[in-house]
Amino acid sequence: MGRIRIERNPNPQTMPPSNQLGFGQVFSNHMFLMNYNPKEGWHDARIVPYGPLSIDPAAIFIHYSQAIFEGLKAYKHDDGKTYLFRPDQNFARMLNSCDILEMPHFDRDLAYEGLLELLKIDADCMPDAPCTMYIRPFMIGIDPILGVKSSQTYLFCIILSPSGAYSGNGLEPIKIAVENHYVRAVRGGIGEAKTGGNYAASLRAYYGAHDQGYSQVLWLDGVEHKYVDECGAMNVFFVIDGEVVTPELNGCILPGITRKSSIELLRHLGYKVTERKVAIEEVAQAWREGKLNECFATGTAAVVNPIGELAYHDEKMVINNFTAGPITTVLYNTLTGIQWGHGEDPFHWVVEVK
Ligand SMILES: *Cc1c(COP(=O)(O)O)cnc(C)c1O
Repeated sequence: MGRIRIERNPNPQTMPPSNQLGFGQVFSNHMFLMNYNPKEGWHDARIVPYGPLSIDPAAIFIHYSQAIFEGLKAYKHDDGKTYLFRPDQNFARMLNSCDILEMPHFDRDLAYEGLLELLKIDADCMPDAPCTMYIRPFMIGIDPILGVKSSQTYLFCIILSPSGAYSGNGLEPIKIAVENHYVRAVRGGIGEAKTGGNYAASLRAYYGAHDQGYSQVLWLDGVEHKYVDECGAMNVFFVIDGEVVTPELNGCILPGITRKSSIELLRHLGYKVTERKVAIEEVAQAWREGKLNECFATGTAAVVNPIGELAYHDEKMVINNFTAGPITTVLYNTLTGIQWGHGEDPFHWVVEVK
């Protein structure tokens, strides 16, 4: 304690009412920052009024994308207290992103302490259920030098956004187009890092699918265009002939915490879950034979999103009559039950903010 300097916002804003909250559109009154240079290490940890950052226009991350981020949520339970879902996993993944982008490790304990402190200072911005506080940690290389190299100096930041439910109804199926041309990430690339570059790479395909009436694309692998990687910025699961299968982590796929939790939870509930290569042709063949029982995508924002239709070349594969299947529904209810403190938490995933 005492490692974090606090400067209170003299003009705190009142957050909009819950029914007017979109996703990531308004921000709380404070933010957490800390800086790094090789001499001092991580220093000047501070919570200051939310506002614009002063960044040199030559800063490395602006030009060469040496930038990583995370996304997690805080939930206000019926007891009035605030809880996080597996925050240790987010910080561990962010350290892995540091390695992939040649960035130094941030001070994990200090960052976590900063997050807890920030949530307490902005407790009056914490929305009631079903809204959540979306938490966005990020780290950027800020050397003001245009040579292509790893930055010597960094800024680590956490901002908070009171957010509404990601989609209107949690279990409303989405339509997905299999992307046969563009790829999100390739073997040997940075697909496993949570970094903006992968998002920039995804936009052309996203808008192409969007123009055709699809809400996202199903990414195939960047080498053979044969195996399923992810669904938009979510991980993807299929139920084929009663068995839950999901693409194995291959260096291109972002290791989702909702993915990992879903696998652990489904196994705990007695389902067989297999992580392996999943060829798109296998999925299509299963559908043709009536064996593609369910399909869903997982991620922090929507938690579990049923996929009701997959467009693959000329085939429009409608899954489970465009409704959420039984395994999808059980998973959604169990996982959101844990997150909201309504159900048992067998793995102790939920952590109180105190
Ligand atoms: C964040 C993210 C996910 C989902 O990860 P969660 O930890 O479950 O939120 C999946 N794919 C991509 C590309 C992501 O950036």
